[in-house]
Amino acid sequence: MSQTAPQLTLTPPNTRVRLGAKKLLQLKRSQDIIETFAWATVVFVAAMFFLDGGLAKFGNLNDILQSTSRLTALIGTDLLLIHTLLVARVPWLDKLYGHDKVTIAHKKLGKPILYVIAAHFLASLVQFAIADGKSLVAEMVNLFVNVPDMWSATVGFVLMLVVVVSSINAARKKLSYEVWYVIHLLAYISILAAVPHQFSTGSDIAGKPLQTLFWVSLYLFVALNVVWYRALGPLLLNLGLGLRVSAVVRESSDTISIYLSGRGLERLGGQAGQFYMLRIMNKENWDKPHPFSISAAPNNRFIRFTIGDRGDFTSQLPDLKVGTRVFLEGPYGVFTEERRTKEKVTLICAGVGAPPIRALAESMAARPGDITIIYRVRSYEDAALLSEIEQVARHRGFRLHVLSGKRGSANSWLPGHLNDVPDHARLIEMNPHISESDVYICGPGPWTHAVEKSLKRVGTPATQIHAEEFAW
Ligand SMILES: Cc1cc2nc3c(=O)[nH]c(=O)nc-3n(C[C@H](O)[C@H](O)[C@H](O)COP(=O)(O)OP(=O)(O)OC[C@H]3O[C@@H](n4cnc5c(N)ncnc54)[C@H](O)[C@@H]3O)c2cc1C
Repeated sequence: MSQTAPQLTLTPPNTRVRLGAKKLLQLKRSQDIIETFAWATVVFVAAMFFLDGGLAKFGNLNDILQSTSRLTALIGTDLLLIHTLLVARVPWLDKLYGHDKVTIAHKKLGKPILYVIAAHFLASLVQFAIADGKSLVAEMVNLFVNVPDMWSATVGFVLMLVVVVSSINAARKKLSYEVWYVIHLLAYISILAAVPHQFSTGSDIAGKPLQTLFWVSLYLFVALNVVWYRALGPLLLNLGLGLRVSAVVRESSDTISIYLSGRGLERLGGQAGQFYMLRIMNKENWDKPHPFSISAAPNNRFIRFTIGDRGDFTSQLPDLKVGTRVFLEGPYGVFTEERRTKEKVTLICAGVGAPPIRALAESMAARPGDITIIYRVRSYEDAALLSEIEQVARHRGFRLHVLSGKRGSANSWLPGHLNDVPDHARLIEMNPHISESDVYICGPGPWTHAVEKSLKRVGTPATQIHAEEFAW
């Protein structure tokens, strides 16, 4: 481990941030436009089906099966492309909703899409089996072997099943993140495998110019976003930046900071509170990106991540050699000052939640006394970045409460010795202006939810509560 961290001088606060609720209205308007556009694509494909005589084709069993197969194929594919876009980490979606909300929407769509595509598969199979007078199994073999592009569509459907099953909570808990991630890459192959049969055998596209234009545009739009934002853009940026590890410094018993240096760091364009996917470009780890928040406000000297030892990947990091090449993808997330509407701010963190809170404290412009920091730690030895947080608080005139000790009651987010009054009463005691402030919370999921409960009890409006969960 290298102990030579760059001299830490505080970056001047960001004074460009606009306060006030107007920006929330603008945000809501932009979200409404995106959502209307997304639903409009579903309405369009259904409308085209009905205008093409679809409504009249529910007269007998064969028609019902054929129409069900067509309609479910159209709606399922449209939703699948939206689903893919949601997880492509496109900055224009991330800025509007935040990485965690986009990921949740992506997860929610997964099962319904599978059901719709499964309905398409079954309706087609039964319809062809009846028409050919074959059993379902014989018809499946027939379609697979004799009908052009059907084998790849079937492979695509099976891969889709694998992806969705691996995402069900029970299965997911048994998989490491890395295995789950590789399985998820199969989703792209699944979509590509199904494309040929849509254009060659699908009766709703071939020979229909408007529909062809719509589907080609939609596929191209999603493909360009995926290729640019997930692959090409980050690759070109990283080749230009030439990021390398410049120091690895111990911060607490189980936490280290990694400093990165490179050319033209301002091109990364991140803000305090955001995170990057970090790839260590050595033989063992180049294919295992992990998310980490920057722990110092953006500056043109270094990028810093402060990382707790939590498993296979993070336990290797203290041995990282200075000079090791690193790739970053991002920045991601809306746990930033862009969401701040009030003069007063409360920053609350626990454990590995400290890095983004430390960066936000450094970056936020405020009058002395307007910002309160609450840092929940198990013990002072475990409190990563504590001396820096104290330094920021001293320099900028922020109030700091360090709450150390073991948890008392199971529902409390405070240490046991503070449990003599309810959590929300203790919160008001630490910050009497809590209901008029924007509150940024970062820590483990259940702990964050307990803090949010207290905030609701003291009357802090939901629009002023900002929490980014460390979830995947
Ligand atoms: C948006 C975000 C910001 C984060 N910022 C920080 C930070 O600043 N400092 C810090 O110490 N930790 C941070 N984390 C958590 C950090 O990513 C995980 O602790 C780390 O990836 C664990 O990897 P591992 O292989 O060592 O442990 P594992 O044993 O593989 O995982 C331990 C736990 O970490 C989580 N995890 C593992 N891999 C990933 C992954 N690729 N993406 C998301 N979660 C994963 C899982 O919940 C897993 O159960 C952040 C996570 C997210 C989602």
